[in-house]
Amino acid sequence: MPHPVISANHVAVITGGASGIGLAAATRFAEAGMKVCIADLGDDRLKAAAAKLSSAAPGGAADIMTAAVDVSRADEVASLKAAVAKKFGGTDILMNNAGIQPGSAMFGPADNWQRILGVNLWGVINGTQAFAPNMIKRDRPGLIINTGSKQGITTPPGDPAYNVSKAGVKAFTEALQHELRNTDGCKITAHLLIPGFVFTGLTARGRTEKPAGAWTAEQTVDFMIEHLAAGDFYILCPDNDVPRALDERRILWAA
Ligand code: NAD
Repeated sequence: MPHPVISANHVAVITGGASGIGLAAATRFAEAGMKVCIADLGDDRLKAAAAKLSSAAPGGAADIMTAAVDVSRADEVASLKAAVAKKFGGTDILMNNAGIQPGSAMFGPADNWQRILGVNLWGVINGTQAFAPNMIKRDRPGLIINTGSKQGITTPPGDPAYNVSKAGVKAFTEALQHELRNTDGCKITAHLLIPGFVFTGLTARGRTEKPAGAWTAEQTVDFMIEHLAAGDFYILCPDNDVPRALDERRILWAA
């Protein structure tokens, strides 16, 4: 039994919805009869994704919307909110999922850090600031799902800007959860999705076959939907093994 918010005629907005985990979530929401808006950088993939979603949606193309949006830009995200409200009315699910991992170095160029933090962290903040106030005012249950990463918890060496951005997503989502809980009558809940190793454009790095042990985007989303129904705040995909990773890091510190 999925979460009751995932049901016919409710509205879902998914950033980074043109591929990978975002597209898999959009597909499941469309299959459930939701009206779905995918927001992503404008290119042909957005059109291809919309065609796929239209065939999955019982209501067809009328229930699918695309928006060319750079989530790091608050003005573009505010326009997204206005466009969704005009076409579908209020939003029931916001999934702040857009992310990049181009690689980074501690003393690397500042604009690389700004871009990674801009998309991965500011994208989540911009989405929440644009959509959450109206979601709260609507006085009905809703979900805000932010996509984090195990790297935001274990901060492994090698990609500092990505780690910092995802640690920020974790902290922001926890702060949001406190805020929502302390808002009288608020029926919106926040959730932090922490995918394991998922075979998507982000991780393919030239590979065409899913490596052993990696999950598909669809497996990840089905796991997420199961845990949303259980009311979990942290949705840690099992291969994350975060506690063990933290133990290993403590051993590293001791050395
Ligand atoms: P993906 O590359 O398939 O999807 C990311 C999507 O975000 C792409 O469609 C991309 O165009 C979009 N995007 C990038 N910059 C954007 C911007 N400025 N504005 C709007 N859209 C933008 O990768 P994915 O694996 O599906 O990643 C989804 C999320 O999951 C990301 O936040 C990523 O950090 C996170 N994640 C992925 C993995 C994994 O193993 N794949 C693990 C942990 C976390």
